[in-house]
Amino acid sequence: MFVYGELAEGSRLAPGVETGLGGIHRRLDLLTDEWVVMSPARNVRPLDTADREESDGEENDCPVCPGGIELPFPYEAAVFENRFPSLVADPPPPPAGQLTAPARGRCEMVVYTSRHNACLGELGPVELGRLLALWADRSRELWADARHAFVMIFENRGAEAGATLSHPHGQIYAFDHLPPTTAAKVEAHRRHRESEGHCLGCDLVARETSSERIVAPNETFAVGVPFAARWPYEVAVRARRHGLRRLADLTPAEQLDLAHALRDVALRYDALFAFECPYLMVAQEAPGGEADWHLAFEFFPFQRSRSSTKIRASVETATGLFLNDVLPEDAARALAEPGIAAPPLDDRCLFAVEPEPAQVPLLLEARA
Ligand SMILES: [Zn+2]
Ligand SMILES: [Zn+2]
Repeated sequence: MFVYGELAEGSRLAPGVETGLGGIHRRLDLLTDEWVVMSPARNVRPLDTADREESDGEENDCPVCPGGIELPFPYEAAVFENRFPSLVADPPPPPAGQLTAPARGRCEMVVYTSRHNACLGELGPVELGRLLALWADRSRELWADARHAFVMIFENRGAEAGATLSHPHGQIYAFDHLPPTTAAKVEAHRRHRESEGHCLGCDLVARETSSERIVAPNETFAVGVPFAARWPYEVAVRARRHGLRRLADLTPAEQLDLAHALRDVALRYDALFAFECPYLMVAQEAPGGEADWHLAFEFFPFQRSRSSTKIRASVETATGLFLNDVLPEDAARALAEPGIAAPPLDDRCLFAVEPEPAQVPLLLEARA
């Protein structure tokens, strides 16, 4: 467990609680040559998706509120291993056969703040800065582990997006192999370098910047709806600078711009749809030594209008071909509407993102 921020008197680690590893392994789908993780114990994990209103100010059963079963002490932000993981550092042997493999990797829970009634868009400047530094710190350590081929920070917001807790939180997965979409992106970057002689990320940023799909101005990141967006109001926050491959590469000014962009996009969704819009948010850091890769955060909201949601239905699920109901240019125009932009941030929200984990001053307590 890693606790970030001021650690109050009486802080102590959680007692051992039931974990769920039963039957965890990977299976190969011969038809698609893709791996599928089997994690049956996850189906019995506890749920606490009570609306924020329902638990407002009252005693609640939230396992990650200070005093809850996972974090039974005061904290400001925390990371711990998911008790019901899909991937683990030392997985049990898989069922015998050529088509199975151990489900090796890591699944960490990231609690953004001790405040139950908050969300990414509503984090204060210091909370937001701490979260960025925490992400950089954890991902750097996971990338440094030779067993990991890909590390992915993400957030599933809302019960519709699969979140089983309403407390503001996200997750980090480390994979021991490149997942299929990541492998395809690596291939695309390599092909582009071979055929065009330059970096696909640089070209994408140039395309976005000169398009009608930019949602908000940002010096460090192109914030826009992708040209071929799969989800109606999808947004990509992509680093402009070649060489900004991972969170650990962020300069202080770039940290501020990223914090602002993420808060801004999250607030724009809630303002546009007039409720707490469920979304998936995924950080795309460079796998391995890939030089042609720009750090990006991708947002996939489920709404296609205030009252209707985009379902990943037959065509998308069975064929992988997405049907998008909203033109990306129209989506960008709606999201860019003035008056719903987040207020700017200042350097109160900066935390050191150091190259060596031992030098990170905000990490006050750690236990393997
Ligand atoms: Zn809570
Ligand atoms: Zn580039």
